[in-house]
Amino acid sequence: ETRKLKQLKHSKTETADRVAIELFANIELPEDAVQALKLGAVGVGLFRSEFLFMDRKQALPDEEQQFSEYRRVVDLMHGLPVNIRTIDVGADKALGAGGSDVSQTGVSPLGLRAIRWSLTEPEIFLTQLRAILRASAYGQARIMIPMLAHAKEIDETFRLIEKAKQQLHQRGQAFNPNIQVGAMIEIPAAALVLPLFINRFDFLSIGTNDLIQYTLAIDRADHAVAHLYDPLHPAILHLLANIIEQAKRANIPIAVCGEMAGDPSLTRLLLGMGLTDFSMHFSQLLLVKREILKANVGLLKSRVPRVLKAYEPDEQAKALERLMA
Ligand code: PEP
Ligand code: MG
Repeated sequence: ETRKLKQLKHSKTETADRVAIELFANIELPEDAVQALKLGAVGVGLFRSEFLFMDRKQALPDEEQQFSEYRRVVDLMHGLPVNIRTIDVGADKALGAGGSDVSQTGVSPLGLRAIRWSLTEPEIFLTQLRAILRASAYGQARIMIPMLAHAKEIDETFRLIEKAKQQLHQRGQAFNPNIQVGAMIEIPAAALVLPLFINRFDFLSIGTNDLIQYTLAIDRADHAVAHLYDPLHPAILHLLANIIEQAKRANIPIAVCGEMAGDPSLTRLLLGMGLTDFSMHFSQLLLVKREILKANVGLLKSRVPRVLKAYEPDEQAKALERLMA
């Protein structure tokens, strides 16, 4: 069984009815890229850069240190795309650095986290942006921004990206001036104004972990409400189907990089919604690929509407059973 799964590494990733699918990896450490590549990932869909900043005994990594880590991933991926997500601290991820007054512990999920925090610490953000930009001279490093919801945050983010480019230009340091910039769609407000994001970004990635948290008002870290954290809640399925459809219609690359993308029991559902780009922990790549090879997207697409129309749990269970058949 394991041997069979391993053989899948070498096969093309396409459905039984020949729809090409792209599988990307989520990584937390640069070394994870080695496994991702071995298992056939066609890029890094999510590099959680905050892991370079967390649980540190020394000060935060400086530009050179960050650049060398980002470049390592880019080099390991041999020209394949690498989405470097800018620092996503706060809530479940605490930023701790000895000898620094920067600390992000105990921040509420609704608080000053991710891009909100980065925009209040422009020097730290600019340092990270310069490091990513410099890595883009060596391969396909791309910038991915977490937790955006407001047009003003988008303006400010692009203003700082331009400033980082200018600074490098003045220093005479190399970078890709056309670096791609993507947004994570993980706040319901962002999903509800998707055209704003489609107009301004090169690619989008749905962070279902947070999208579920914020849509259902369930703190991801609170065990007392963990039983209500439900990826199959009809509200979540409606949002996902809608985001994917709008993005596909606008011809902007759209991926899912939350845990849902790596759950093989949900692969058919996401394929049926029209999703073609999945990003997941590398341990899930072949399990999801096995589902993809067996799937018939045409058939799945015809069965998704019934799932979306099911508001009662038993009705939904039946519609899902039919989808899986
Ligand atoms: C998500 O929210 O789905 C996501 C991929 O980001 P993280 O889990 O790191 O918040
Ligand atoms: Mg998230």
